[in-house]
Amino acid sequence: MTLSTPDLDLERAWMTEAIRLATDSVRNGGGPFGAVVVREREIVATGNNQVTATLDPTAHAEVTAMRNACRELGTFSLAGCVLVTSCEPCPMCLSSALWARFDRIVFAADRDDAAAGGFDDRAFYQLFEKNPEGTWPITMDRIEMPNRTEPFDTWLTKPDRIEY
Ligand SMILES: [Zn+2]
Repeated sequence: MTLSTPDLDLERAWMTEAIRLATDSVRNGGGPFGAVVVREREIVATGNNQVTATLDPTAHAEVTAMRNACRELGTFSLAGCVLVTSCEPCPMCLSSALWARFDRIVFAADRDDAAAGGFDDRAFYQLFEKNPEGTWPITMDRIEMPNRTEPFDTWLTKPDRIEY
């Protein structure tokens, strides 16, 4: 069986673990989110939300699981892996999963469930979908610099660069 023909019983078992991690996370003082990374039908890493515990606003369950999986597998690419998360990824985690090159994402609760729990996942998606940047609760300014492409130019002329 390949990843394109999902085993629903197995996926439910992975999701059961992700939800257990999420609920345990709350009991341990973390946020209510959990995730596992699966490769070749085996869980290779887990993660739970550690934002408040580690004073890291990016320490969402999915990002934590990705970091643990990459460390475990000794790679920066999670191509061939599935991200199983207790809740629909927020825009940051979705982008991180794209950068990690996951094959698939599987989630249970959605952004509306997260909103009911007091989390901003849906609100942040709406920033991207509906609102012009000028209405965002953050200011982003561009500075014109004559050497703005220097890092990319240096990258493109480096013959032994490791692309990702
Ligand atoms: Zn997230």
